Amino acid sequence: MTTPRYRGRFAPSPTGPLHFGSLVTALASYLEARAHQGDWLVRIEDLDPLREPPEATDQILASLEAHGLIADEPIRFQSRRHPAYQSAIEQLLASGHAYRCACSRKQLKANDGRHPAHCRDTTAVPRHIRHAIRFKLEDESSHWQDQLLGPQRQTVNAELDDPVLLRKEGFFAYQLAVVVDDIDQGISDVVRGSDLLDMTAQQQQIYRALGAQPPAWLHIPVILNEQGQKLSKQTHAPALDNNRAAGNLAEALQALGQNPPGHLAAAGVDAVLEWAMSHWRRRAIHLTSG
Ligand code: GLU
Repeated sequence: MTTPRYRGRFAPSPTGPLHFGSLVTALASYLEARAHQGDWLVRIEDLDPLREPPEATDQILASLEAHGLIADEPIRFQSRRHPAYQSAIEQLLASGHAYRCACSRKQLKANDGRHPAHCRDTTAVPRHIRHAIRFKLEDESSHWQDQLLGPQRQTVNAELDDPVLLRKEGFFAYQLAVVVDDIDQGISDVVRGSDLLDMTAQQQQIYRALGAQPPAWLHIPVILNEQGQKLSKQTHAPALDNNRAAGNLAEALQALGQNPPGHLAAAGVDAVLEWAMSHWRRRAIHLTSG
């Protein structure tokens, strides 16, 4: 049996410009793909126009380019993939892995997370009532291996954790789209921030329900600010300055435990990436961040 070709990706949600934390994730996934002579793809996860300033996608793509992180294939945009998500939902409804749910968050809370209308066990939710589509999780004590963090154990609670696949407002949800696209793009290895670690066991169930083999996962520690918060739009992480791209890359390598020589940044973006590709050591990534 031949091993499938390594295919990795960086999949930002365009809620704001690229910041240092997302550069670290992008760089780690890029270097992992290069270390395996694989493909590296970029996918813009633009599923929720209400949370996405229209200029953010162009800012992210310009920043990636300024930092020399060029995808091997055309960029994919989830906003153009609605028919694929719709057909995955139909498949999951037909196979009994998803259900229509009109319960409000308030109702679920008042009922300890259980569905008061028993929508999970029926196909009778009238289609004209505004409803979400949820994935029907199975109770599971999931054991899997993270490529960096080692053995993982996660408990999945049927019903209580059932993720939304299509929101009542008509937007497809991250949990569905990420799995559908990773399958469709033949992604063999996902490198992403450990803030998404908890999602993994649920995503494995969605893979299986869609008849696909889950990829390998590698979760890198998230970068924290001085207050110990994750760098994000919510914590006002500043946008990267593309004019000091080589310096940003050197700092990102440092954050990944790679110990680049001090003079490297002065040599420019291509030189930093060259050095990073020939010296990349996954095991050097610090398991704690900050
Ligand atoms: N779009 C997700 C985010 O920006 C990442 C998706 C993933 O890597 O699984 O948080």
